[in-house]
Amino acid sequence: MENSQKVLQVKGLSKQYRKGVYASEKVSFDVAKGEIFALIGPNGAGKTTTIRMISTLLQATEGDAVVAGHSILTEPEKVRQNITYLPDEAGAYKNMTGKAYLRFMAELYADSKSQAEEFVKTGAEICELGDRLNDKISSYSRGMQRKLLLARAIMSKPALAILDEPTSGLDIINALEIRRMIKNLAAEGMSFLLSSHNMLEIEYVSDRVGIIAKGRLLETGRPSELLEKYGTKNLEEVFEKVVTSSEIL
Ligand code: ATP
Repeated sequence: MENSQKVLQVKGLSKQYRKGVYASEKVSFDVAKGEIFALIGPNGAGKTTTIRMISTLLQATEGDAVVAGHSILTEPEKVRQNITYLPDEAGAYKNMTGKAYLRFMAELYADSKSQAEEFVKTGAEICELGDRLNDKISSYSRGMQRKLLLARAIMSKPALAILDEPTSGLDIINALEIRRMIKNLAAEGMSFLLSSHNMLEIEYVSDRVGIIAKGRLLETGRPSELLEKYGTKNLEEVFEKVVTSSEIL
């Protein structure tokens, strides 16, 4: 793979919240243009820590990551121009209406007023919240909030969309819609870094997965390759085999 095709290169990224204890340990992987890469692993595996370092929200203890040619260490501003990060919660913005939130975020990312308007229009279409966009976010169900946040993350068509648990809290119909949306955008050239516990979802949506446990990336590959390599029927079984064999070593 040519470097120019790599939208993300993660190089030995580590985080120690406490000295000597690795939440994320020498994690390395790449994501190509138009590729959907998912980090999968149990609670506390280091998914959010890794994703937050790449998103420039958390300082790495060691290592580097390069997004669209820009290092998180030396050019964090440039990295931020090329990514969007979907957090788990709307947090501080809950008192805004959905529409005001989309506009606020669009103005942060757009170069002009007309581009901001375009982003808001795209965001409103993607989230399909209709008139409810005029209501405060605090009145939305968790599923509605997720759709709004996701629309916000992709309305500006970033080079890399980083989505932490993109479909958590969504019912099956909404989750299917979101997965389809991600696949369509990837086909247009947007790259995705996802995290999830839901391995069936990941098997469907991802081009490649990385299995992470106790801060270490133990295996990466296409779901079909991994099923064949480990002689299993689904990714959950692959996961179990990978984690068990790493514990024996
Ligand atoms: P989940 O699926 O539960 O969100 P995760 O895979 O995203 O888990 P992380 O949140 O990255 O895992 O946590 C990795 C490790 O780092 C855990 O042991 C966690 O307790 C620890 N950790 C996370 N945030 C902090 C923090 N701010 N201070 C100290 N330790 C932390």
